[in-house]
Amino acid sequence: MGHEELLARHRAVMPDWMALYYERPIELASASGRRVTDREGRTYLDFFAGILTNAIGYDVAEISDAIRAQLDTGVLHSSTLYLIRSQVELAEKIAELSGIPDAKVFFTNSGTEANETALMLATQFRRSDQVLALRNSYHGRAFATVAITGNRGWSASSLSPVKVSWVHGGYRFRSPFRDLSDADYVKACVADLREVIETTTAGDVACMIAEPIQGVGGFSSPPDGLFAAFKEVLDEYGILFVSDEVQTGWGRTGEHFWGIQAHGVTPDAMTFAKGLGNGLAIGGVVARGDLMDCLTAHSLSTFGGNPIATTGALATLDYLLDHDLQANAAKLGDRLIGGLRSVAADRPAVGDVRGKGLMVGVELVGADGAPDPAKAVAVLEGARERGLLVGKGGLYGNVIRLAPPMTVTEDEVEEALGILEDVL
Ligand code: PLP
Repeated sequence: MGHEELLARHRAVMPDWMALYYERPIELASASGRRVTDREGRTYLDFFAGILTNAIGYDVAEISDAIRAQLDTGVLHSSTLYLIRSQVELAEKIAELSGIPDAKVFFTNSGTEANETALMLATQFRRSDQVLALRNSYHGRAFATVAITGNRGWSASSLSPVKVSWVHGGYRFRSPFRDLSDADYVKACVADLREVIETTTAGDVACMIAEPIQGVGGFSSPPDGLFAAFKEVLDEYGILFVSDEVQTGWGRTGEHFWGIQAHGVTPDAMTFAKGLGNGLAIGGVVARGDLMDCLTAHSLSTFGGNPIATTGALATLDYLLDHDLQANAAKLGDRLIGGLRSVAADRPAVGDVRGKGLMVGVELVGADGAPDPAKAVAVLEGARERGLLVGKGGLYGNVIRLAPPMTVTEDEVEEALGILEDVL
């Protein structure tokens, strides 16, 4: 089947709202390291890692061998009604890495399900259907997670099983507090949080859920300490705090293993997915034991934590810890951000270069500073023509997102910078 026919069949049978990148979408045929090759034989350097799914790159022998060994047992999966060795081992590791006291772990198949689970736990625990989220956030595509998502482009439904109020703090570049110092920005966001709790909720809110660095929202990160200041207010009201680490977990932000650690707070729960499986479908929640255990009825996921996914995830986690990929993310992330800031210096189309570690956003603007999504499309296509895959995002679709596998090398960062300089 040729490319045109596959594309036509895709469009005929898949929903119109399912986004595909590029005017001529790519079908991957093979991959290795940080490079992917399409069916037409073109190879690209991948600086979006799927959507941050390929944490350690493609075709890693340690991961493939571990999965193959599990396949060879004949047990792809039966159900989570039986004990699964790799599931228990993975849960123990994540509980320990989380830093959450008495932590327990529940596995899902995606970030969406992880956040749905966290919302279910928090609302049951607090017997409240009220939730606080950040403007410009993205938390998933099921009923409750869509409802709390504060980004019009991704809020696929206007109906909601929870009552949600949104606060400032996530997307600084276009916020009314943008020009304040870091300390005053934090103060302004805290004042906003207090006002929202006092004026838009009944006070008995279940939880706040937030991404330490907003992913779909364009890799925008608040000043360190914002969430510690938020947590003080939340504690006054007994409101739980859930950190959505679906994009920021596993050391990708460089400085810390979890994005929230930059703020010096321990959340009541964290949700994770994406990079953990290095391409396999796995997500989950790690939470305080009393919060995790608050459900009284049975609840399980047939596939969540299955042997293939947890075996691949264990191998991925071991690999990224053994090779200290967090340190690589910190070092090469600094180089990437520094290089892009130099490129941006004489290019007025670049309004902002931001991020941490290997989560770097480049916000493109028009002459008047307004969001310019057409430029982001042009950069996406231009980079592809030159052999580089990047991501796109932001409330207005005008942010280029760079998030290569955490195994990326210095040479590859220089190669990407050269291409981006040319394209920009
Ligand atoms: N939370 C965040 C921060 C995300 O970026 C995403 C996906 O992009 C999700 C949740 C949803 O994860 P999934 O697409 O695996 O359901």
